[in-house]
Amino acid sequence: MTPSRPTGKHRRHTPQRQVILEELCELRTHPTAAELYALVRDRLPRISLGTVYRNLEVLCADGLARKLTLAGSDARYDGVVHRHDHVRCTGCGILRDLPRGALQVSPVAPAEAAGFRIEGYRLEFQGLCPSCRTGADPGAEDRAD
Ligand SMILES: [Zn+2]
Ligand SMILES: [Zn+2]
Repeated sequence: MTPSRPTGKHRRHTPQRQVILEELCELRTHPTAAELYALVRDRLPRISLGTVYRNLEVLCADGLARKLTLAGSDARYDGVVHRHDHVRCTGCGILRDLPRGALQVSPVAPAEAAGFRIEGYRLEFQGLCPSCRTGADPGAEDRAD
């Protein structure tokens, strides 16, 4: 006997999850769960970090957000789910999107030459952002559009 429950296909969006998704999509800074929690709390004062974290996992599982696990840092979340690459500042740690098609050459070719059927790849450029290059406050950059 299986109880008649809706499949996971059309998962119900709780109001909390909707707020989390809205905040994530508005931010282009690829926040960590803790950073997003600080923002979401302005709108949902009683929410917990654990709840934000769990909802982010559901959003990722549903394909509405992407989880970015990068070497040496906490997982970050991305409201932009189409294929794109990132550049990360080694000074302040901000992560920015690169425009689609920014790469002139597919980085997959060498892996295919090794006989693999490539299903995906992750590419992250590293360097100093404009603020860090000029020694300005990196926080100011985050809020500029
Ligand atoms: Zn920087
Ligand atoms: Zn991104």
